[in-house]
Amino acid sequence: MNNFFTRKFHRFFRQNETKLHILNYLFWECTWRCNLQCRHCGSDCKAGSLYPDMPFEDFLKAIQPLKTAYPRNSILVVIMGGEPLVRKDLAECGKQLRDEGFRWGIVTNGYAYNEATHAKLVSAGMGSITVSLDGLEENHNWLRSNPKSFERAVKALELIVDCPRLNYDVVTCVHPKNLAELPELKEFLISKKIKNWRIFTIAPIGRAAENPEMMLTGEQLRQLMDFIAETRKNDPRINLYFSCESYTGEYEKRVRDSYFFCRAGINIGSVLIDGSISACPNIDRHFAQGNIYQDDLLDVWKNRFDVMRNRTWCKTGICNDCRNFKNCKGGAMHLWTPEKNCISACVKHSMSR
Ligand code: SF4
Ligand code: SF4
Repeated sequence: MNNFFTRKFHRFFRQNETKLHILNYLFWECTWRCNLQCRHCGSDCKAGSLYPDMPFEDFLKAIQPLKTAYPRNSILVVIMGGEPLVRKDLAECGKQLRDEGFRWGIVTNGYAYNEATHAKLVSAGMGSITVSLDGLEENHNWLRSNPKSFERAVKALELIVDCPRLNYDVVTCVHPKNLAELPELKEFLISKKIKNWRIFTIAPIGRAAENPEMMLTGEQLRQLMDFIAETRKNDPRINLYFSCESYTGEYEKRVRDSYFFCRAGINIGSVLIDGSISACPNIDRHFAQGNIYQDDLLDVWKNRFDVMRNRTWCKTGICNDCRNFKNCKGGAMHLWTPEKNCISACVKHSMSR
């Protein structure tokens, strides 16, 4: 199929997915506590959090109505934080989710992931895990502000690659300091038998908003896109792809498996630490559509979220005159403020400046 037809097909597919808005992923922001203090953290969480951990019973009660609307095992609950491994009851929460007919996984910095944790979580039915590795040792430890964080994250990777029933990916956030070492990092990951590698860049949200030097320039973004495209084309040893964070224009077909599609509020929902019901957890919290302590989660999912399902309002600012709008629909929801301002240009736009 040529480009014209694949794009047309994709627009039709996106329209249909939006109309159906089947919930596939539900993030649970179970804690704001964290055992690290990363420089780029999107949620700006701290060791002593503003919010107490959400009691598991509250979350479990909130998701009960989903069981009436969706087949057993069709929803993946992604437990994240903060750092989910700081919760002592994580395996018990996971086991109960599995018993209730939800698949579950975690997003972790890997720091507290050891043999005992691994055995406990896998026996509790954990099916997926995402571990962050943000460069080789010096760069990873710099970004994570901890001298042991690389060693610990690599240990976590060694444990998970040897577990065939776990779906996993390694995520690397790229910034000016680690861009040049990506080829070396790739060889390192391959030496550790890693097959799935996802790359993203830093958005100016959370703690990263105070560190503008971590954003890539247009030229650096182009270098990054070239690295991903080249690896995908010529290196079958690893499956590398660019995260769903931004539309990339001419690189779309070369840096990911399918065209950019922000699925926030379409297939992705979340329950945040204070009970707010939203989509991806890094979206501005003012976009929350309800709260589990007042509203029925299923009703909110079915009947609200118009702001994410109808993105015509994004046709403003740089998106207003953009000829890619019909393919992109204003890009990543996490880059918009409730005042309808885009907080950062998309990759496509940044590369052309
Ligand atoms: S400027 Fe807006 S519409 Fe155009 S590609 Fe970027 S995010 Fe998409
Ligand atoms: S809000 Fe961002 S992370 Fe979430 S689906 Fe959209 S682009 Fe992806």
